[in-house]
Amino acid sequence: MLEQYIEESKYIVVLTGAGMSTESNLPDFRGENGLWRNKKPSKVGSTFSLRFHKKDFYEFYRERIQGLQEVQPNAGHDILAKWEKEGKVKAIITQNVDRLHHKAGSQNIYELHGNLATLRCTKCHTEYPATRYLEKEGQICVCGKFIRTNVVLFGENLPQDQLDGARAELQKADLLIILGTSLQVSPANTFAKVAKKQGAKVVIVNLEETIKDKFADEVVNGIKISEVLVATDKKLQKK
Ligand code: NAD
Repeated sequence: MLEQYIEESKYIVVLTGAGMSTESNLPDFRGENGLWRNKKPSKVGSTFSLRFHKKDFYEFYRERIQGLQEVQPNAGHDILAKWEKEGKVKAIITQNVDRLHHKAGSQNIYELHGNLATLRCTKCHTEYPATRYLEKEGQICVCGKFIRTNVVLFGENLPQDQLDGARAELQKADLLIILGTSLQVSPANTFAKVAKKQGAKVVIVNLEETIKDKFADEVVNGIKISEVLVATDKKLQKK
């Protein structure tokens, strides 16, 4: 029972993945309608693509940025923000680049894979809002060089400050709630084991089983995140 773990914990850290945002109509990577079903990650979201397939790179991210313009946080994001205000949740570590935790009002967020809110020139490093990609020739900087997204591409290191911050939060956690990630991507795929090793409880909520379920004290499969969080919140309010 997630509500019981929450009640018994003093320092709750949440790790989220693309499944957190599917209920906001953003496709995940590996789920049923995932983004990678038709496109190879190595072709579009990689350093290789940035160097050799700029058109594909630009078109892929332009489409994703366009898709983000109308997107709103779902009930799951809202409850995490509420739990932070109530002092229950201390930090959110996310692999998502959609900024929906920010939009919902969460404050202490670590973005392991960057975000799609801003862009930067590959040459002069001038920063642009993501909507620049929606303009005609929006991928070209005033200096004439290519503008890239501020997401971590396949083949790049994670931002050290975000990773250090996330690891520091994890060290303090007595409960790690993992939501909507297949836990296949490093380093997030190590967090359940790390938390468990230091004595924290681990709860995984994911439609499908994950390869790290063995480290969890409780696994909730087959129910959508928002349904689990809304039901848990109701139970917590009744207590
Ligand atoms: P993933 O696609 O590998 O796994 C998502 C998991 O969430 C799947 O196992 C799926 O069954 C589950 N899921 C989907 N909808 C759910 C729901 N409503 N309730 C419960 N579970 C649900 O995603 P991942 O593990 O986060 O993979 C990491 C990569 O995905 C990262 O590089 C991240 O940047 C990228 N990504 C981010 C976004 C975003 O920002 N919204 C979207 C797509 C991909």
